[in-house]
Amino acid sequence: MELKANAFPQAAIIALKDIQLQTALARGTTNASNARLRAMSEVTDAEALRRQARAAKLRALRNLPALLEQFEANITQRGATVLWAEDAEACNRLVIEVARRHAVQRIVKSKSMATEETGLNRALEAAGLEVIETDLGEYIVQLDGDSPSHIVMPIIHKTREQVRDLFVEKLGMTPSDDPEVLTAFARQKLREAFLSAQMGITGANFLIAETGTVAIVTNEGNGRMCSSLPPVYVVIAGIEKVVERVADFATLVQLLPRSATGQRMTSYVHLISGAAQPDEPDGPAFMYVILLDNGRSRIRGTRYAESLACIRCGACLNVCPVYQNVGGHAYGWVYSGPIGAVITPLLKGVANAAPLPHASSLCGACQAACPVMINIPDMLLRLRADLVAEGEAPPGLSAGIAAWARLMSSPFLYELSGAVARLATRAMAGSDGQVRRLPVPLLGNWTENRDFPPFAAKPFRQLWRERQRGQ
Ligand code: SF4
Repeated sequence: MELKANAFPQAAIIALKDIQLQTALARGTTNASNARLRAMSEVTDAEALRRQARAAKLRALRNLPALLEQFEANITQRGATVLWAEDAEACNRLVIEVARRHAVQRIVKSKSMATEETGLNRALEAAGLEVIETDLGEYIVQLDGDSPSHIVMPIIHKTREQVRDLFVEKLGMTPSDDPEVLTAFARQKLREAFLSAQMGITGANFLIAETGTVAIVTNEGNGRMCSSLPPVYVVIAGIEKVVERVADFATLVQLLPRSATGQRMTSYVHLISGAAQPDEPDGPAFMYVILLDNGRSRIRGTRYAESLACIRCGACLNVCPVYQNVGGHAYGWVYSGPIGAVITPLLKGVANAAPLPHASSLCGACQAACPVMINIPDMLLRLRADLVAEGEAPPGLSAGIAAWARLMSSPFLYELSGAVARLATRAMAGSDGQVRRLPVPLLGNWTENRDFPPFAAKPFRQLWRERQRGQ
């Protein structure tokens, strides 16, 4: 996916004016957040579980090289082949090589953010291979030539009516708004693909080093179809997905569905430890696991290492006031929302995603929702500091902050500026007392989509002085 993160401000303005998008986002994020709160409230000690999950992920990150080797040794013993991809290009090349080795023509694929990151579909199609997304949301995205806008709910930006129109136009379906009819129709189409594909590709939610197991949690069963029906099965997983023990997986899998979709558990939890064994009638004859680095090792050695603990639940997106208003596409790359605002600059370079660390009010809702308690606001602040250090701060920001610091450190200038602002905003206010648009270019943008409440007639300092004087 082409990186357009630097166009965030323009994309956000377009998104804010898109009524259909606003309807879809309000519906999707509110439902997901409420469901998460309900599901988490059922846990006896949710905070303790979150702390345990965080500890498991951070321990795994500390021991990452050893755990990856342990994972490789264990799954190799059961007939799988582990391949290492340093970057996106290497990953895509490895998949194409595997496809050619086994004379594959048609590939079915389950949802995977890692493959979005590498642009796998484009690379496969360029190599003359047919690839069919089988997660319903991803299938719709592919059909529409679109891209996912949420880690867990790829078509959160689409309304049911838009999906209906797409199916009618592209697949000739008899029009219906009923989600069950739409799903049944897509399922029928996908069934044919599952039965005819020679290769299946999935991501992984966790890699368990202790047993050499790939763990996948899904709701549609397509992950199981992709991993068990075609004779060749390829898993593509970021190296940060590894956890040490089955017990760690058991902790994390209690939190992932609750945080992602508000479910106690997803409909399917697959644990795959190698290719089909001689005494097993089902399963792939060939299994490959591609471990993708693509910048993760670099992040692991920095003060942003904690971002690698993310389990891609999407909870931080659903509660973020910025994401709730602009949606995922505005972030201009695969990862969106608060965690996207951290990992996109880390993976693609801060200069290539300069607006993203500023796309946050630092309210802390993301950290409060995160099942592994990642301190996203802190990392966003550090990234802002990095931007300043690299000379990538927005034009005028450093001068503006210096002027602000001067004002704030002088009681006289502070009072004077307050008095000027009070008079100015009162002069600009409409009959209801609200300022619709501030004139200065920068602040004018700020009021493009909000009203500016006028300053109080009497500032607190004046009220306090009057009170002291007994008035
Ligand atoms: S940062 Fe936390 S809340 Fe956000 S997707 Fe990752 S695990 Fe979920």
